Amino acid sequence: MFQFFRNRPALLEKTYQIAERAAWALNPLIAKIGYERVARLITPAEDFAKERVFGCHHCGQCILHSTGMSCPMECPKNLRNGPCGGVRPSGHCEVKPEMRCVWVVAYENSRQMPIYGHELIEIQPPVNRRLEHTSAWINMLTGVDKQGPAGWAPIEEVIG
Ligand code: SF4
Repeated sequence: MFQFFRNRPALLEKTYQIAERAAWALNPLIAKIGYERVARLITPAEDFAKERVFGCHHCGQCILHSTGMSCPMECPKNLRNGPCGGVRPSGHCEVKPEMRCVWVVAYENSRQMPIYGHELIEIQPPVNRRLEHTSAWINMLTGVDKQGPAGWAPIEEVIG
């Protein structure tokens, strides 16, 4: 069943869009209840679904909709801004030859995603390991997932 969803990026992005809108609509209520309290309630279900559909590694900064619904943390090098130079001609990974490169899958999927597919070229901040095993949904609402480390700035800000 989970493979059914994994192979349908357009369905996954629509589902994500609905969930994201619902999360923002509920944000005032969630803030009132308390982000930590809600995180404790939703994290088990979030982990369960994401592990099975995406092979989630619980980074706490989910960017799946920007990476063709292909989890960049599945990459053995955890690359979040495109592939390394070792992608095999077959499209497989140089570290795990049995696996297709997550960025090849991301590219293929993003071409089937009319809503978020264009985000594939966005520059992602370095992963913040302190957010591991926290709720990515709650981190999205609080904005902590968008904060880069001190000294880091998106390329658009660097080049003006
Ligand atoms: S080939 Fe792809 S999945 Fe493998 S290490 Fe390089 S970028 Fe990551």
